[in-house]
Parts: sequence; C-alpha cells; structure tokens
Amino acid sequence: MTTVFRNFIAGEFVNPAKAAPNLNPSNTNEVVGEYAQGSVEDLKAAVAAAKEAFPAWSRSNPQLRYDVLMKASNEVMARKEELGALLSREEGKTLPEGIGEATRAGQILSFFAGEALRLNGELVNSIRPGVGIEITREAVGVVGMITPWNFPIAIPAWKLAPALAYGNTVVIKPADLVPGSAWALVDILNRAGLPKGVLNIVMGRGSVVGQAMLEHPDVAAISFTGSVATGRKVAAACVASTPMKKVQLEMGGKNPLVVLDDADLATAVECAANGAFFSTGQRCTASSRLIVTEGIHDRFVDALTERMKGLVVDDAMKAGTHIGPVVDESQLGQDEKYIAIGRDEGAKLHWGGERLNRDNPGFYLQPALFTEVTNSMRIAREEIFGPVAAVVRAKNYDEALAIANDTEFGLSAGICTTSLKYASHFKRNSEAGMVMVNLPTAGVDYHVPFGGRKGSSYGPREQGAYAREFYTTVKTAYTLA
Ligand code: NAD
Repeated sequence: MTTVFRNFIAGEFVNPAKAAPNLNPSNTNEVVGEYAQGSVEDLKAAVAAAKEAFPAWSRSNPQLRYDVLMKASNEVMARKEELGALLSREEGKTLPEGIGEATRAGQILSFFAGEALRLNGELVNSIRPGVGIEITREAVGVVGMITPWNFPIAIPAWKLAPALAYGNTVVIKPADLVPGSAWALVDILNRAGLPKGVLNIVMGRGSVVGQAMLEHPDVAAISFTGSVATGRKVAAACVASTPMKKVQLEMGGKNPLVVLDDADLATAVECAANGAFFSTGQRCTASSRLIVTEGIHDRFVDALTERMKGLVVDDAMKAGTHIGPVVDESQLGQDEKYIAIGRDEGAKLHWGGERLNRDNPGFYLQPALFTEVTNSMRIAREEIFGPVAAVVRAKNYDEALAIANDTEFGLSAGICTTSLKYASHFKRNSEAGMVMVNLPTAGVDYHVPFGGRKGSSYGPREQGAYAREFYTTVKTAYTLA
C-alpha cells in the first residue's frame, strides 16, 4: 500500500478521510506520492490548535525562535538535492532550478532566524509633560497561508519563516497540485522544535480548505499568493469576516522587458530567454512582453529565435534539460488556447508553440515567440503563465516606457540599455514594484522586499525586513511616569 502523506495538526499526523495522487508532469505514469485531502473539520482543528498555541509562542524567547529556524535552515541546506528533486518531480522545474529553489528556502529560514532577534521598537517623546511613548510590534495571531503551485517550497518558506520568527502561529494550505515540498518543509520545521500547534498543515482543495480558512473567525490574517481571480475572492472574504482579517495578496503579472537600440544584444537575449522561458515561463515575474525599439528589433528577434532553438525541452530530472514540462494538462490547455488567440488576433507566431512528445508521457510545450504584437491584444494584456512571449515594437524609449506601463499589472519590469539616462529614467518612472536593469525580470534576492503594484499585489510587501509590516501589529503605549 502507498504511504499517504498526512496533514499535521496539533502536533500529530492525522489520518485523512481522502487522499489524492501527486503526479509528475514530466511522466504522468509516476505518482510522486499520495497526499491527504483535508476537510473543513481538519481546518477547524488546525485553527483551534494554532489558537491555543499562540499565547505561549507569541511570548516565547526570540532565542528559541532563532534556534528552530536555524535548525530548519540547516536541514533544508543539508537535504537540498533531495528536496530539489522532489520539487522537480512534482512541479516540473529542471533539477538545477529545483535545487536552487530548495537552497533559497534554506537561505530565507536563516535570514528570518536573525530577524527574530532583531525585532525592535521605538521610544518617542510625548507632547504632554511627563509622558513617555513606546511603539512596539506584536505578533498578529493565527495566520492562514494559501500558496500557489509554481514555487512549491520558496513561497511557503517566505511566508512561514517571518510568521514564525515574529511569534505568530500558522495553518498553511499549499497548492493542491504540489503539496509535497510544503509538506516536507513543515515537517522539517516541526522536527526542529516548534511546540505543538504552532505550525499546522492542511492540504486539499482551495474551495474546501481554503474557503473554510477564509471564513474562520479565529484566523487573524491571510497571506495569499495565486491568481488575481482567487485573490479578489480572498480579499472580499477577509473584509466580510467578523472580525475583519488582515490580508496580503501577491498575484499575477504581465511583466515588460524593454530592449533599447543601444542595448548589448547578448545581454538582452539572455535576459529575455531567461525571463520569458526558464521555469517553463511559470513565474509571476516572467517577461511575457518584450518591448523592442525599431533599430534593434530584427536583430533581437533573430538572435532570440536562435537562442530558443537551442533550448532543450524535456524531463525535468534529465541532465541537459533547460525547460521542463508545463505543470498539468489544464495549464497546457491554457497556453495552447492563448497561442490560438494570438494567431486569431493577427500576431505572427514567429517560432515554437508546438506540443512535444518525449520518452515519457508529460505536458511538453516548445517555447513560443510572437512578433507583430500590439499592446492591446489579449496575449499582451492577460497573464498566460506559460513559455509564451510577445514582442511589441516601439518607436523609441518614450513609447517603450508608455507601453511597459500600459497594463493592469505592476509586479516586475526590466530594461536592457547601456544608457545611464534611460536606465535611471526607467527606474523612476516604471509603474512596477520591482525594476531590473540589464537583468531578467524574474530572479530576486531574499533579503529585500518583494511585491508589486496595481493588479499584481495588495497589502504590505513580502520578504526581507519589510515582512514585519504584515506579520506584526503595532502597539503605541503611553505612560505617565
Ligand atoms: P490559484 O489562484 O488558482 O490558486 C492559489 C491558491 O489558492 C491554491 O492553493 C488554491 O487551492 C487556492 N484557492 C483556490 N480557490 C480558493 C478559494 N475559493 N478560497 C481559498 N483558496 C482558494 O493560483 P495558481 O494557479 O496556484 O498559481 C498561479 C498564479 O499565482 C499566477 O497568477 C501567478 O502569477 C501567481 N503567483 C504570484 C506570485 C507573486 O508573488 N506575485 C508568485 C507566484 C505565483
């Protein structure tokens, strides 16, 4: 009989009523594992446990929180190849990408171990004689986390680490498609010494477990990463609940990479290939719009096409694979649907976009490049979330900047140029939360804020010291001495 990975609630593994297979998108004959499908009752039990654990954990010695997070970081680092392989098998990222993401999770845990010790406050003079003011930060309470499938270990890590460092207790519901990496991370953190009930995992459907989390009155805050459509529902439910919940949403993107005439061609091609197609284009920060000025347009398209021809699409675990499969049949269907939409809208499918067969049954798609795209076409406006990029021609820098900002999203934006003037102007005038110069739009550091503007994000930033804005609440205390 296959082992079922069970939910972990109140310090115990709980036998589930139901379980579902976690399939390898590189080889759908391979079941990565059977994972519990939690119920509303499981969610309620997890919230009750987290609520009970909160008073002690929120007042715990920061040295204890540091020790737990560092121990977990050390285990993640020691097991990064194995965790990376699990991630690649369940999500379809290449093995080096999987190991890189597992390493990132370890780095995040050690960063926030230090943050547990650095939480400080302020002493302020009052306008009233003899009165002193202290501004301090306290844990928020039980935090509910809902995560997407495209970063199965890094996103759980960048939510769990600050939540725990600042003294919150947690219930996490990972994406139904990829529960394995989050399960492994929760197991590592619990074995690193978290008291019972501090960290609970309930796997299962968003419409069941996620919805119950949003409706539960004892969940004080929700940190969500996923699509705009689900994000809207999450925010609405948080506001409708009594008491209202604090909420943080990280959602989609339609990230522009501007390539100017004066760009170094090799740098621009590398930024575009990496940003648009690596991780199968399944990154919220993917460069899905390549906005290229007249003078370099044709040379850029030719060179990028040559680069694409050299990209090996195959089993994520195979040495030499550059691009793994799409995550599942439904996402592959969405990618193909947009390729058809692009053609119908009059864009030119310049290269790629074919479904591919490999040794094992999987969801393989050749990266696709559209040219002759206008920014009003659906392929330039809607998030596709696959290895599909659209080249939009611009007359000059000013028009390129205007096109880059003409989107309902605002997560990441990039520019390739050798001009300090344009680079500086773009950094100041881009309407994105993260701006890259001569770098891919995807790929960030873990010790600085991550997040966007407009339709991409809602609420305080994640990561780095800025994470405390969401995971703590401020108290202002007045004392007459
Ligand atoms: P999704 O919105 O379909 O699902 C995200 C999570 O929400 C899953 O755990 C899902 O089970 C849950 N969910 C679904 N319905 C729910 C409901 N009614 N109530 C509560 N929870 C519910 O997104 P996805 O397909 O897993 O991920 C892809 C999306 O995530 C893309 O749009 C991508 O851009 C975005 N993303 C954003 C960032 C960022 O930081 N901005 C990072 C990664 C991914």
